[in-house]
Amino acid sequence: MTARVLIVDDIPTNVRLLEARLTAEYFDVVTASSGQQALDICNTSDVDIVLLDVMMPEMDGFEVCKRLKASSKTHHIPVLMITALDQPSDRVKGLEVGADDFLTKPVDDVQLMARVKSLVRLKALTDELRARALTGQQIAIEDAIRAMDKISAEGGSILIVDTDARHAERIKNYLGTTHKVDVLTQPADAVFQVTGAHYELALVSMALEDFDPLRVCSQIRTLEHTRTLPIILMADEADRPRVVRALDLGVNDFISRPVERNELAARVKTQIRRQRYAMELRESVNSTMAMAVTDDLTGLYNRRYFDRHLAMMLGKSQSQDRDMAVMMLDIDHFKSVNDAHGHDVGDAVLREFALRVKRNIRGVDLACRFGGEEFVVLMPDTDFRQAESVAERVRAAVADHGFDIAPGKALGVTVSLGVTLNESLSDTPESLLKRADVALYRAKREGRNRVVFDAA
Ligand code: GH3
Ligand code: MG
Ligand code: MG
Repeated sequence: MTARVLIVDDIPTNVRLLEARLTAEYFDVVTASSGQQALDICNTSDVDIVLLDVMMPEMDGFEVCKRLKASSKTHHIPVLMITALDQPSDRVKGLEVGADDFLTKPVDDVQLMARVKSLVRLKALTDELRARALTGQQIAIEDAIRAMDKISAEGGSILIVDTDARHAERIKNYLGTTHKVDVLTQPADAVFQVTGAHYELALVSMALEDFDPLRVCSQIRTLEHTRTLPIILMADEADRPRVVRALDLGVNDFISRPVERNELAARVKTQIRRQRYAMELRESVNSTMAMAVTDDLTGLYNRRYFDRHLAMMLGKSQSQDRDMAVMMLDIDHFKSVNDAHGHDVGDAVLREFALRVKRNIRGVDLACRFGGEEFVVLMPDTDFRQAESVAERVRAAVADHGFDIAPGKALGVTVSLGVTLNESLSDTPESLLKRADVALYRAKREGRNRVVFDAA
């Protein structure tokens, strides 16, 4: 894992100490000795994580963090606060100003690496999702940031896995006022418990009777459904070596026992916020991708997607010597529908038309709105006879029943269709579409509401 870490501390010895540890782990380290310098570096270069000392003259760590989180340019950089005062109130204050996590001095090596790696990993994920959401279409970066701000970390759905029922109850009580918490005292059932449920965080005790806690974690990681579920381990000092292994396995964080209430609340809050942010980004990426390939009005694929798909399918059917049919459809006298009933009715007719087309083709066929009131359907593994029967079925499905445009008022609509098959290796997407179009034009000329095959 390579990442650029900014260390901010007014005491040079502290800086050098952290720098040595992080450099040994191959992190790329930059340093700042004041809050202002830290802000300047973050604003002018790429930083993946900030290790921020709280106590500094002039501008303290809380203020630096607040400013980083308030600016759209630096908002996404994770901040790890380092406090000398082992005060729960400092931690709470740090989280209030937007810090992602904290460490207390003297900084423990395992904790340092665990927190830095977990935050850098999360940043890499969100960077990627952000980039995809942004290229997918023109969502402004502010949208992503606003989404992060809107995300609450309350009402989280949490699973505690602990064979010690009393300990589990205590943890549950710590969290119960803000979150919904389930307790599982049979670790062997963890997989069943998380399947079908919608947990946002698992708290797994390292002290499980007769059961390897790391197995619970790896099982959760293996299930598709819970692959990204954050896991926090509750570990004793003696569990250290196994905690290190668990962190390598992708466990997100750990908390030392005895579990301190504020620290627990803070870590849980951070993990839930991250999880919700990642989910939100993922959804926005998915819907942007869907938007990029589908037509808004009908939900069919759009022209851009169709063009790419046609080229690929044609190549495949040519190399495997398989039939493929292209069917071009154009609604008859559609202009007069708009003219007589208005554009909205026209839109409704287009939607209903798309539905009828979809219902009369197979799942493997690809229907696309080519533009306006023109559509095209690509049918793989389809010969002349099959193509003809599909085209005729679609024609009838449109013509035989009126389109409801108002209660009790149906409008007669017809469609003309031109169909062609791929015939030779010299066929190209353009030549196929051209032939289907010529056939369609003939269908129009010969009286509309009919199917014409290209007679090449
Ligand atoms: P033909 O039988 O020769 O195909 O006649 P036509 O009227 O269907 O063909 P023409 O290409 O002259 O007109 C198509 C009309 O489709 C014109 C345009 O306003 C309308 N149209 C295109 N896209 C939309 C749309 O998204 N919504 C609505 N309501 N109308 C549209
Ligand atoms: Mg038309
Ligand atoms: Mg037209």
